Amino acid sequence: MVAKNPWLVEANLIGGAWVGADDGATLAVVNPATGEGIGTVPSVGRAEVARAVAAADAAFPAWAAKTAAERAALMLKAVEVIRANAEDLAALLTLEQGKPLAEARGEIAGSAAYLQWFAEEARRVYGDTIPSPWADRRILVIKEPVGVVGAITPWNFPSSMIARKIGAALAAGCTAVVKPAELTPYSGLAWGLVFERAGIPAGVVNIVTGKPAPIGDEFIENPAVRKVTFTGSTAVGRQLAGRATTALKRISMELGGNAPFIVFDDADLDRAVAGAIASKFRNSGQTCVCTNRFFVQAGIYDAFAAAFAAAVAALKVGDGFEAGVVQGPLIDGRALAKVEGFVADATAKGGRVLTGGARHALGQTFFQPTVIADATAEMAFARDEIFGPVAPLFRFETEDEAVAAANSSEYGLAGYFYTRDLARAFRVAERLKFGQIGVNEGVITTEVAPFGGVKSSGFGREGSKYGLDDYLDVKYVCIGGV
Ligand code: NAD
Repeated sequence: MVAKNPWLVEANLIGGAWVGADDGATLAVVNPATGEGIGTVPSVGRAEVARAVAAADAAFPAWAAKTAAERAALMLKAVEVIRANAEDLAALLTLEQGKPLAEARGEIAGSAAYLQWFAEEARRVYGDTIPSPWADRRILVIKEPVGVVGAITPWNFPSSMIARKIGAALAAGCTAVVKPAELTPYSGLAWGLVFERAGIPAGVVNIVTGKPAPIGDEFIENPAVRKVTFTGSTAVGRQLAGRATTALKRISMELGGNAPFIVFDDADLDRAVAGAIASKFRNSGQTCVCTNRFFVQAGIYDAFAAAFAAAVAALKVGDGFEAGVVQGPLIDGRALAKVEGFVADATAKGGRVLTGGARHALGQTFFQPTVIADATAEMAFARDEIFGPVAPLFRFETEDEAVAAANSSEYGLAGYFYTRDLARAFRVAERLKFGQIGVNEGVITTEVAPFGGVKSSGFGREGSKYGLDDYLDVKYVCIGGV
């Protein structure tokens, strides 16, 4: 990056003002591809977050009172701002997160699409009339915004994870305080500039950065926050969900995954390999819906393993700004050490490395795209989320065995399988205990469909009409003396 990105802002947005932390504290942000510092952002404490919540609370009545069409018009202006500046926003994303520029462009386009979807959907928040059991009374059900939302988002999709939450919140008539991940705060703060340019009133969206605990504590303990929406790890989500539930707040939890990808003997091999690459290696495997475990039927195992390993070996690794690169760095040293640990554990237990298996010669946090054959249930990645470019191949004989193994995870976010048998497509889709299923498709996320999980992957849905419900309260109105 030669010139400073015009969307890089080093302040927090509170009540329409760009401010630093009260005590001047900052957090440093690093480009994972080079290890070089990009700059700093404020590290705020509870007092600043309380002010952000107060600003959101003050802005709420006027925002909620706007008609859906008025809110939609402002949101659609924000969509225009994003689309007109997509190249700079994508570059900012690659700079702090590391993903290849083409993927960053895709994420920014996705952010605009979520915002547009919810802006349009805002006009379709319908209530009900219910046939009354009383001749002289009428029963209405209306939907109202839940109020101030506290949103916490992860580093792997630093723009679109915010879009899914804030798009739905704004459309519903809620106001919000957003806490982007501390590793990738700039794409989150850039949303503040987007909303400002679109003319969304001060206080409707506030963005704070800093150490997570004080911000999370304020979201949970401040009575003005009526909903906490979180995307991140199951460990943190479980803890926040427990406390937010005790505080009797609405919550949505988009947590970890351990996606299975089942290749049946009757699969289209080329299609399965292409889907496997997209599903596993997007964002260098750092995606909650990324495949974690490949289950391959015995009859196609060797052919799939050979074709898949050859395709993986051809993936170009490097700085996301470099042309042709499809695999960027991992987010930090901790992620790198974790991925190395999975490979060491698997090889010690008999796993066979078909390609990759070690840190990349580029240094930093680059890891070679890796395929490990002869994976078994005793290996750590059978249980735990890898969140990196390592693909374990498990062998199975029967459909029942594959479904049981896939479902044996505590997680239930996404699952994929490849077959050309129509009856099996229905049967297995219904038997897999996951919130999202791809049949002969490895990447299925879209703003028009519900995104979310079951079991330890959390609850609540983002995107689609269901995503809007999460930001609405249902109110029953009984009109008597009619
Ligand atoms: P993480 O749980 O460490 O952090 C997520 C967010 O929570 C960050 O903003 C972080 O600062 C914040 N946080 C951490 N501790 C907190 C606390 N005590 N109070 C309040 N906030 C706190 O997760 P991560 O490493 O950033 O992200 C990776 C995880 O996110 C993976 O498990 C991945 O599967 C999951 N994820 C899930 C989805 C989904 O939609 N289901 C999407 C993307 C990522």
